[in-house]
Amino acid sequence: MKHLAILGSTGSIGRNALEVVRNLNKNDYPVKVQYLSAYSNTKLLLEQINEFSPKAVVVFNKSSFEELKKELSRPECELLHGNDGLIELVRRGDYDLMVNALVGFTGLIPTIEALRAGKDIALANKESLVVAGELINNILHSSGSHLFPIDSEHSAILQCLRGETAKSISKLILTASGGPFLNHDKEFFGDITIEEALNHPNWKMGKKITIDSATLMNKGFEIIEGKWLFNIDVEKIEVLIHPQSIVHSMVEFSDGSVKAQLGMPDMKLPIQYAVTYPDRIASDFPKLDLSKLKSLTFFAPDLDKFECLKLAYEVIRLGGSYPVVLNASNEVAVDLFLKKKIKFPGIPYLIRKALEKHDNSAGADLNKIIEIDKWSRDFVRNNAGQTC
Ligand code: MG
Repeated sequence: MKHLAILGSTGSIGRNALEVVRNLNKNDYPVKVQYLSAYSNTKLLLEQINEFSPKAVVVFNKSSFEELKKELSRPECELLHGNDGLIELVRRGDYDLMVNALVGFTGLIPTIEALRAGKDIALANKESLVVAGELINNILHSSGSHLFPIDSEHSAILQCLRGETAKSISKLILTASGGPFLNHDKEFFGDITIEEALNHPNWKMGKKITIDSATLMNKGFEIIEGKWLFNIDVEKIEVLIHPQSIVHSMVEFSDGSVKAQLGMPDMKLPIQYAVTYPDRIASDFPKLDLSKLKSLTFFAPDLDKFECLKLAYEVIRLGGSYPVVLNASNEVAVDLFLKKKIKFPGIPYLIRKALEKHDNSAGADLNKIIEIDKWSRDFVRNNAGQTC
């Protein structure tokens, strides 16, 4: 029996992870939901508690915590609050795998604490690796924990690499749908509405990652994520636009052979693979019917049009603490766009300004990362009025 802690259980990945739990239990792969955490959606969290009977849950938002305290009629389910509650829970010994589906920088400390406690992680929170990849890899080496990606591209690469040796890899090819503005003229990017940006053609995801997919920043983050997950030089990671989102990524080997993983654009697949690795368990998730597909196309991304991906490439070349600035400034800029405080082109504009102002430093010190993250957030908030 595998015991899970699912962080961010009311979000898109969290809900899909619970679908996976239902499927696994139906298919003789016993999984127990030991812990859940949510930000503020107490209505859904209560439903999840009633169905999965976790030992404890954490609620971040104070008023939602108080609300759940009144409504929860199960004394056997412990209720914890906020960041302190989450850290306490993550450090406990009685679970095997943490599903980290938190959004943004918030996911970093739980990742570090779980790895230090020797836990395995199914990681959807790619921002952890973007800002602290070196630190996380150092902890992984000393703790013996494992990190399994919940990102369709990196799950595809993990599957392609089974049975292969590191020295035979010549490059990783990350595919990208191109998002809703692939065929949109850049001249009109200033008119893009929130609804248009949230209308992803292939994937149903949370708001933050959907905007990151519309700007292609998500793909920049995935290059950095790939570097740390597979210990590979970023020069050997290529991005290809593939609008159908059927080929989830590929690996080219030294003999010229290319392996690809295909499937429906459905996050339940990479989530289940991360939870059951190295096993494959049956599912009734939607299956791919290649005979119904007219064509699969691939082409290089337009970096002049998608400035966020260009900025990510610059940051990857510079290294050091620049990825921390890239992540934090993007997180705040996306939030400002979603609050209608800035326009769509304001996102790369503010990120570039923050990167230009930052003095790069090397190393993998957590306090330094937290300090640079805070500086970047303040900088973007203070300069938000400058964008057109
Ligand atoms: Mg992805």
